[in-house]
Parts: sequence; C-alpha cells; structure tokens
Amino acid sequence: MDFTKIFVGGDWRTGRGGLVDSINPADGRVVTRYGTAGVDDVKDAVAAGQRAVADPEWRAMLPHQRARILTRIGDAIEADVDTISVLQTADTGKSRAETRALALSAASTFRYFAAALETMDESLTSPRGRYLTLSLHEPIGVIGAITPWNSPIASDAQKIAPALAAGNAVVLKPAEWTSLVSLHLAGIIAAQGLPKGLLSVLPGPGRIIGEAIVRHPGVGKILFTGGTATGRRIAAAAAEKLMPVSLELGGKSPTIVLPDADIDQAIAGILFGIFSSSGQSCIAGSRLFVARSLYDAFVPRLVERTKALRVGPGTAPDTQVAPLVSTLHRDTVADFVERALADGATLLCGGGRPEGALYDNGAYYLPTILAGVTNDAAICREEVFGPVLVVMPFDDEADLIAQANDSVYGLAAGIWTQNFPRAYALARQLEVGTVWINTYKQFSISTPFGGWKDSGLGREKGRDGIRAHMQQKSVYVGLDPSPLPWA
Ligand code: NAD
Repeated sequence: MDFTKIFVGGDWRTGRGGLVDSINPADGRVVTRYGTAGVDDVKDAVAAGQRAVADPEWRAMLPHQRARILTRIGDAIEADVDTISVLQTADTGKSRAETRALALSAASTFRYFAAALETMDESLTSPRGRYLTLSLHEPIGVIGAITPWNSPIASDAQKIAPALAAGNAVVLKPAEWTSLVSLHLAGIIAAQGLPKGLLSVLPGPGRIIGEAIVRHPGVGKILFTGGTATGRRIAAAAAEKLMPVSLELGGKSPTIVLPDADIDQAIAGILFGIFSSSGQSCIAGSRLFVARSLYDAFVPRLVERTKALRVGPGTAPDTQVAPLVSTLHRDTVADFVERALADGATLLCGGGRPEGALYDNGAYYLPTILAGVTNDAAICREEVFGPVLVVMPFDDEADLIAQANDSVYGLAAGIWTQNFPRAYALARQLEVGTVWINTYKQFSISTPFGGWKDSGLGREKGRDGIRAHMQQKSVYVGLDPSPLPWA
C-alpha cells in the first residue's frame, strides 16, 4: 500500500509536510513512510469542505440517501477488517484481536448513525399564536476532528460518522504515531460514493496542523479526543472564535471491590480494565480500591493472575499484553513507576521490561502493580496511560467515596459487588461520566460517552450524537391572514 499521499478535499496529493516513518512498536522496524500535511493543505481542505457542504448534491440530499452512503461505508470497513487489523497492529503494536474489534466497532458506528439518521425527526413546537412553529436542525459546516493514537479507526469513526450524518464536511487530523489506518479509511470512504470534498485526512504534528485546523475561521466545531492539556489549549483557542468544542480527555478511573464481590469475576474484570490495550486507554481502571476486610486475601490473587498474563507481539494469537505504542511512550511509563518507587511505593509485580530476545527491540512493559501509597501520591493523581495499577484499601463507604472522587479526572469507574442496590447508590455518588457495575470497559455506540471535570466536555455516541453536530433553527410560519395589529 502507498501511504505517501494525503487526502485533501477528495484528492490524493503529496502533502506539504513531507514524509514521516511509521515504526512498528513490536520490533522497532519501519513499517512504511507516510505523507503529512502543511498549513496550506489545511486551507485547501477547509475550502473544499465549505464548497462541498454548500453544494446542493449534499445539502439537498435526503436523510435516507445520506444514510445509504454511511451504511455502505460501514459494510466496506467490515469487508476490509483483516487488512485494517494487520495494518493497525503493525502501526500501533496492538493485538490482532483488539485491532479487529476496533475495525468492527468503526463499521458498526457508521451503520448505527445511518439508522439514527433515517429515524430522526424534526419537531413542531406548541404555538402561542396564530402561527406554526418548527424547531429544525442545520449542519454546522466544516468540522475539525482531532484524534489520539490509542484506538485510531474507532475514534475516527466516532467523529466522522455522526458529523457526516448531520450534513457536515470533516477535516480529520489523526495522531502522529498512528496515521496509516486513517489514510486507509479515507480510501474506503471515498470509494462509497461520498461526494467529493466532504472528507479530508491530514496527518501531521498537532502543534502545527492540529492548531491550524482549530484556528481556521472556516471550521465551525472541533471534535477532540486526547490529553487534558491539549484539550484545554484547544478550548482556549475555540473560546476566541466562539466555536463549540467536544472534548474527550484523560482519566484516572477508580475501580472498587466491595466485601461481597465475586472475587474471580472481579479479578478478571480488573485485569481487563487496566491491562488490556496495555493500559493505553482513557478509561483504564488505574486506581483500585479494595475493602480492607478483603485486601490481604485479594491482592496476592490479583498479583498471581497478573504475572500469568501473556506479554508478546500483537501478531501472536495468544498475546494479552502487546507492546506500547512507542519506546518513547514506554520510557515515560517506566519513569512514572520509578518515581512512584522513589516516593515510597511497593512493587508487587512488573516494574520493568520483559526479558528475552523477542522483546529486545520492542516497546514492551510488564503489567505492573504498586501498593503502599495513598490516593494523594503522584502515581494516583497523574494519568500514566500504561499497564500500571495502584492498589489501595478503604475502610467504609464515606472513605471510599471521598478517595474515589478526589481526582481532577471524572471519566469512568467500576464497582464489583453482589449487592445491586448498594452498587447503584454508590454509582450515583461517583463524579464520573460512566460507571460499570460487575463489568468494565464495555461500550455501546447507542450509549452516550464523555467525561466530568477535567475528563471532558460534551458527549459522543447515542442518538443525540448527530444533533451535537448541528445547529438549531426555529421557523415561524404565520397562519393569520390579517396584518399584524401593531402595524
Ligand atoms: P494528545 O493530546 O497528545 O494528542 C491528541 C491529538 O491532538 C493528536 O492528534 C495530536 O497530534 C493533536 N494535538 C496535539 N497538540 C495539539 C494542539 N496544540 N492543537 C491541536 N491538536 C493537537 O494525546 P495522545 O497522547 O495522542 O492520546 C492520549 C490521551 O488521549 C490520553 O490522555 C487519553 O486519556 C486521551 N484519550 C481520551 C479518550 C476519551 O474518550 N476520553 C479516548 C482516548 C484517549
């Protein structure tokens, strides 16, 4: 496959940003070189998007016709799942099982928004005079989508599908480390009859290309997923333009084990919650609170199961913990652990790179569990974004709630218990956007997702996901044949 061209307004062209190596994190080898955009490519992409949204071919296209294009895109992604999975595993290091799941999730996202679009209604509001009143929704225009590297095709789809369903054009900037699959997706989408100009895919550095998209006067909304510091910067730039933004940001999610939890079920869920995707997940359950009465029996079992996890390349069918996205990121994760140990944390397992020739050139890091710290330690406050779990005991419910909510983040939480009323009462008190009870890291495109506090602003997914990419318009139609009385 050739990734040297970028996708600008429906055309493949040589980007003005030059070529960049894509590295396979499993062995450090170059997968391929890919093209990146320059600021002039951003200008061209936005101009093409503006022309395309104004073109009657798209503007007047009826919702069910637009929905057919989205359905075709979903089906084409699914038909291509093997290629996407191989490509994404090479680019991100993730296991083949995970990259397959991400591609299938992207396919479902397009089909879900197609169905939502077909079944969406506008409303007649109650008139308070002799007129008919309608509340309508119009597209915003050109939407900028900026995505991170941790679940590329799925996060691209969660932005592109509802934005197109709403009648917009999209300028997508994928993350530097994982641009291949987004370029590949552009090819799939372009082949399904989407009118030209409605999608551009512009790889490139966030500080240059991301910022150029955010600041461009022709861009009417930004959909961003990434770190909180970047989100804050984007929100500040958006404030100057009075432009809406949707921000899906970082997390430091608490997982809670109550005394009556099913231990085997809880351990399996906790391991999946923190160590799947090698912990590179915004919703990773990275702070574990275990009831003190259970703690001494529970933690050794958790550690034993963690040591048994299979670490290996994403291409090996039995791999559970694949390499991190890059050696640079792996070193950042290792640094977090070193600092925690220097601050007095106890290492229960992991805490380094696996040994053996297989791992020598890859960005591997062992699943790691730390204890002996309190919730105010840096390792409990900062997002590590790697396979690192901190375990802490709690005494009673008031103590638990205080600790769980004592975080700048508010993305997600997990509760393990057999007492549903108690879990429900706890769930209502947690300051987070998503709570999983007796499960973790499960997602449905029909259920809204987003963060509280520093974890974000706005919601993605769900039927209302399309409306979030539109602006409202009220229309009054006079029904009274006589002139207005004042005149
Ligand atoms: P990041 O913030 O460094 O980068 C995200 C994207 O923003 C990239 O495409 C990057 O190039 C771009 N970018 C960087 N600086 C920019 C700027 N000044 N202006 C515009 N764009 C800019 O994040 P990352 O390291 O790629 O991803 C990891 C982060 O994403 C973690 O904090 C994680 O929690 C978060 N995340 C959140 C969710 C969620 O839904 N809440 C999902 C996945 C990841």
